[in-house]
Amino acid sequence: MVDLDTFRAETRAWLEENCPPGARGPGQTPIGSRSQSMEPDTKLWLERMADKGWTVPTWPREYGGAELGNDEYKILIEELKRINARTPLTGRGVNYIGPTILEFGTDEQKARWLPICARGEGAWAMGYSEPGAGSDLASLSTRAVREGDNYIINGRKTWTSDASYCDYIFVLVRTSPDKPRHEGISLVLVDMHQEGVSVSPIPLLSGASPFCETIFEDAIAPVNDVIGGVDRGWTVGKRLLQFERSTHAGINISGSQGGRTEESRLPELVAKYVGTEQGRISDPVMRTRLTQHEMNTRAQQITQRRAIAELQSRAPGFTSSAVKLTNALNIQEGDEILMDAMGTHGYRWDTSSGATEEEVASLKKWLYQKSLTIAGGTKEVQLNIIAKRVLGLPD
Ligand SMILES: Cc1cc2nc3c(=O)[nH]c(=O)nc-3n(C[C@H](O)[C@H](O)[C@H](O)COP(=O)(O)OP(=O)(O)OC[C@H]3O[C@@H](n4cnc5c(N)ncnc54)[C@H](O)[C@@H]3O)c2cc1C
Repeated sequence: MVDLDTFRAETRAWLEENCPPGARGPGQTPIGSRSQSMEPDTKLWLERMADKGWTVPTWPREYGGAELGNDEYKILIEELKRINARTPLTGRGVNYIGPTILEFGTDEQKARWLPICARGEGAWAMGYSEPGAGSDLASLSTRAVREGDNYIINGRKTWTSDASYCDYIFVLVRTSPDKPRHEGISLVLVDMHQEGVSVSPIPLLSGASPFCETIFEDAIAPVNDVIGGVDRGWTVGKRLLQFERSTHAGINISGSQGGRTEESRLPELVAKYVGTEQGRISDPVMRTRLTQHEMNTRAQQITQRRAIAELQSRAPGFTSSAVKLTNALNIQEGDEILMDAMGTHGYRWDTSSGATEEEVASLKKWLYQKSLTIAGGTKEVQLNIIAKRVLGLPD
């Protein structure tokens, strides 16, 4: 039994000594991409935390973790926040595919892939959605045909975030087209640095884009890199979605959550645009909305803590849909409040039109965060899951 007071004291001392100044406060959080350069302190922080097993604190030691229990994990996160340290490593390697391999991988797959994820030696993209398969993911048509010890993959994945600088991609492919559609799918790991994989960014209205289309033309993946067994991809892929949703929800302790969080400046910003009277926001409607939002935010934080405390395994099951959805809706409500408070100040696209940088950033954030109820499964899909799997309502 670990003495938690001792653990806290040792953690605090280690972090003070090993977290470089450039890894505290706002700044870069790496996803492990080989083609993206890291600032020196960010790199040093990642290396030190990886050596300590704290990029994936709850994973087994043999795969790069530190085998922390829930209580120790919580202390580590509190101590990271105390010194305003950034998360040393994030992304789909530590948060999505790593925990999935831990749950479904063979010993050989775990030994090969998990240290790569834990040390950030390559970034991961997610190859699920296709032009004809989003919410209805089981209608995916990317094919994988076995040839000797390899699969030959052909097809088109869309909305593959960050793919232009990722090194690996986990892909849902159809391995048995003759079987019922949920039963002929596999999850396979693909090296993106090969001729058969090409990536083209999908530009958004803003000009920039995290999105890509990823095309597979006779791409090769070893048979050994199918996770959880051939034709078992629907089960494995759905579990990975729970890791994704619990990451969005802030309750995935299987990966590298934690570190500093932005303090909410919403009340201060609303006050700035709406004005105050005797120290209170003068508009009563805005005051009520803001108060309700603050209460929802606190309730959300308590729910996140409770969900983590109740965890029996590395990530919750269907609860992740509920917490993801409420988290997203609450964030979007905060954005709406600020946009309403800013009025016409909020609708200017760049600083050349007289807007401040903060106003432009708020506008772009408001637009971007609308995607929170689409990414990782839409709002309607989460409501369906909650109705059927959490509340047990009939189909
Ligand atoms: C920011 C962001 C990042 C993303 N990153 C990735 C990524 O890295 N990799 C990846 O594979 N995908 C990614 N996606 C894609 C995402 O998973 C899909 O957009 C999502 O699953 C919805 O699919 P769709 O866009 O095809 O919409 P559709 O499935 O066509 O849905 C259209 C509308 O119909 C509704 N609808 C559909 N089915 C039902 C139903 N049964 N009941 C009620 N309503 C329904 C939906 O809720 C939605 O409002 C990303 C999306 C976003 C926004």
